[in-house]
Amino acid sequence: MRKSYEQQLGSLIWNARQNEEKLQKFQCYEMQLLEMNTLPDLVNQVVYESKSTFQLDVVTLMLLDPDYEFRRFLKTEGFILEDHPALMFSESPPGFNSVYSAKDLTKPNMGVFNAKIHGRYFPVKLYTPQSVAMLPLIRYGCLIGSLNFGSAKVRRFYSELGSDFLKHLGAVVGICFENTLNHERVRCMGLTDTLTGVNNRRFFDQRLDEEVKRVFRNNEPLTCLFLDIDFFKKINDTYGHQAGDIVLAEVADVISIQLRQNDVLARYGGEEFTALLSHTKIDVAVEVAERIRENVEKMVVTTDDGTEIRITISIGVGSLFPDNCDDHEKAGQLLIETADKAVYQAKETGRNKVVCIGCQSAKDS
Ligand code: GH3
Ligand code: MG
Ligand code: MG
Repeated sequence: MRKSYEQQLGSLIWNARQNEEKLQKFQCYEMQLLEMNTLPDLVNQVVYESKSTFQLDVVTLMLLDPDYEFRRFLKTEGFILEDHPALMFSESPPGFNSVYSAKDLTKPNMGVFNAKIHGRYFPVKLYTPQSVAMLPLIRYGCLIGSLNFGSAKVRRFYSELGSDFLKHLGAVVGICFENTLNHERVRCMGLTDTLTGVNNRRFFDQRLDEEVKRVFRNNEPLTCLFLDIDFFKKINDTYGHQAGDIVLAEVADVISIQLRQNDVLARYGGEEFTALLSHTKIDVAVEVAERIRENVEKMVVTTDDGTEIRITISIGVGSLFPDNCDDHEKAGQLLIETADKAVYQAKETGRNKVVCIGCQSAKDS
């Protein structure tokens, strides 16, 4: 039966209203996206907020991360990757060819879920949808990732469905990731020591604050190593400042190799480094310090003209326990002072050694 003129008009108006509502929802969501300043905030907005905003059953995000850059920044900001299985990374475009058309990379892929094509983007342990909309994230003409929406309804997404909103959303998400990544890169430059590539003191002071708060919140000890190269002035005087710089960079490498990824290493000043070891018992921290000392002692730095330089390092170890510090405000400062005092003792008693203040009481307790 043919629809009457009123019926046709009614259905057109209804469609127009639906589209307007949809447009408003997308615009509102995109405005929120643009306000995100850090990668963890952006990931949360993209992976979790989109699920409720667009009433989806599963949302995953696959980011291309060949240089481990996204992951490094996320970790630096305390984001625990293992807690977010919906966020995936790939070193190379993971079969994007079968998802996106080479002719038009910007076109979302929509349709019934097909395990062969979409399976790797929707891990079984999360949820297997009935229909999917895969949004390519593109920057400067290249795919940088894929935002993947899944629904329990088989007709929610189909290939003939208008894709303008989703295409626009994918473009905005792509720009947001690129911008936030650039923002993180600039921030990181201000927090990194250019000579050694490790964190600088500014970064260390920020993290010390956060780590001290964690001590009292989670009732866990925090250990600090203070590392000072022995007779470094003599290295400069004998071999020149350029050789001194090479030694500093190599010492930083030797120290960082012995630390875990979540430990915080920084160049505190001149030839001094500090390291914060969380969730670490003090006797384990002393073992780590001893390994660093031994490896620095074994290290031979060869300069451009073939000169071989050997050095040693003195290390002070101090610990902060939640129950032996009442003044939360000064706790971080006290921890540094203790480790500094310990390194001073190491210098006074012969150098090339590890001295720990408070180890006895820690072991006894
Ligand atoms: P100690 O065993 O008591 O620690 O003796 P030291 O010579 O290591 O300590 P001192 O504080 O007397 O000298 C530190 C030297 O480190 C002096 C300074 O010129 C040098 N230094 C500081 N920053 C740099 C740098 O970025 N590059 C180079 N090459 N030298 C640096
Ligand atoms: Mg010094
Ligand atoms: Mg020194």
